[in-house]
Amino acid sequence: MNLLGNFINGEQLASESERQSAVYNPATGAHTLNVSLSTAAETKAAIRVAQTAFESWSKVTPLRRARVMFKFKALVEDHIDELATMITLEHGKVLSDAKGEITRGIEVVEFACGIPHLLKGEHSLNVGSGVDSFSLMQPLGVCAGISPFNFPVMVPMWMFPIAIATGNTFVMKPSEKDPSVIMRIAQLLKEAGLPDGVFNIVNGDKEAVDVLLEDKRVQAVSFVGSTPIAEYIYSTGSKYGKRVQALGGAKNHMLVMPDAKVEQVTSALIGAAYGSAGERCMAISVAVCVGDETADNLIKQIKSEVNSMLVGPGIGLAEEAHMGPLISKIHAEKVRGYIDTGIEEGADLLIDGREFSVKDHDNGYFVGPTLFDNVKPGMRIYNEEIFGPVLSIVRVNSYQEAIALINSHEFGNGTSIFTEDGDSARQFCEQIQVGMVGVNIPIPVPMAFHSFGGWKRSVFGPLNVHGNDGVRFYTKMKTVTARWPKGEQTTSNAFSMPTMK
Ligand code: NAD
Repeated sequence: MNLLGNFINGEQLASESERQSAVYNPATGAHTLNVSLSTAAETKAAIRVAQTAFESWSKVTPLRRARVMFKFKALVEDHIDELATMITLEHGKVLSDAKGEITRGIEVVEFACGIPHLLKGEHSLNVGSGVDSFSLMQPLGVCAGISPFNFPVMVPMWMFPIAIATGNTFVMKPSEKDPSVIMRIAQLLKEAGLPDGVFNIVNGDKEAVDVLLEDKRVQAVSFVGSTPIAEYIYSTGSKYGKRVQALGGAKNHMLVMPDAKVEQVTSALIGAAYGSAGERCMAISVAVCVGDETADNLIKQIKSEVNSMLVGPGIGLAEEAHMGPLISKIHAEKVRGYIDTGIEEGADLLIDGREFSVKDHDNGYFVGPTLFDNVKPGMRIYNEEIFGPVLSIVRVNSYQEAIALINSHEFGNGTSIFTEDGDSARQFCEQIQVGMVGVNIPIPVPMAFHSFGGWKRSVFGPLNVHGNDGVRFYTKMKTVTARWPKGEQTTSNAFSMPTMK
């Protein structure tokens, strides 16, 4: 069995760790690889390498750093088929979706290509007589990234392109469930001309993560994953004096108003609920319907569309499937368990994906699209993130009731409203307590030049990922106030607070 190690100082290295984790092809259940779970000493070694590389990389001009990003972008584009195949074989999502996540990652690299402009800072002439002020945006040092399984390329690319372009060095700890593709990305960064030691990968679990959180040389930690771990990362990293941005879990609601066009809502909803088998932090898992007629019409349409959905392996079919398997056997069992719970809690199961199987893929981790009606707050299937292809319909009587419902949920990552009425949409944008809002858009993921992040328990830390927040997160601002007295001009001693005369 092949064993995946680390990428440190520009080299793929075997790990010394005796602990390993198995990697599977979720469509077949085949055990394809083992990944080493690095020791604390190996993690410290990666930090040391990144610390050394920082001395020279931070002095490389922003324009030259951007040129590496330009080359890297071209290489990722050239290798998109190979990278997408690697994602599909370990994550399970269908190939076109895997290419989609790489494309969203490339957009962050494109944003990072503009780093000379983004680092220009502020300048004020004559803040006092003959006194000027300007700001410098300087890199922090060694930064760390810890990513989830569901976007093995896109989420790391939310982090390292901006961190590196702003002059930092990076230690990445990818998910142990689909670790191969980021290794290939590391090779492409090297091929693009990135000096050794600037980008490193440490595979592992809590042991490696805890070193990244506690080691004084790490200045900032970016995390994306589930809420309990995000909270742990935020509190521990902050305790050790680091900057932390930690994005957590979600339960995203789509508000369907009575005037929304049911065909339009359904096609948007099906993709948002079941795409990538529901394993997206921006997946819609709850449709809130205003009025029984809205709910009844929507359910009728969903049932008919789900009937024509093709579920299967993400690669190798003559016609591409709409949705692939879940990441692991354990996770598929957990999702089936939630469906059992929903029935026990009294929700109406309209489409049952528990017994779903795919021809010639008996050992794959498939759960079929599932639909519950009459789901209510307080039920576990409503309160908790299922992270599978399970859509809940919640019926409400009014727009106000819908707003109160969504606002009282503990998560606030994404949401959307479907309506023909501009006034309702406008009020929704203003009143909703959620970080990313769509108007007739089911998955409102901001582009790379805006920032991505939720509210409430979907995020810990003040700065979101990519966009201007990303640049602020990976830089510290220094403000210089300067006077150049001419010739023999002297200034008198000043013992009181300087003010503009
Ligand atoms: P996870 O929290 O289990 O793991 C994320 C990372 O944390 C992995 O690298 C993992 O190795 C590490 N980790 C796990 N347990 C740890 C521990 N006890 N101590 C230290 N590190 C630990 O998440 P996952 O299952 O890989 O991903 C799915 C979750 O990620 C979902 O909750 C999803 O909503 C969330 N997610 C959120 C966003 C967002 O933008 N908010 C984006 C993608 C995924």
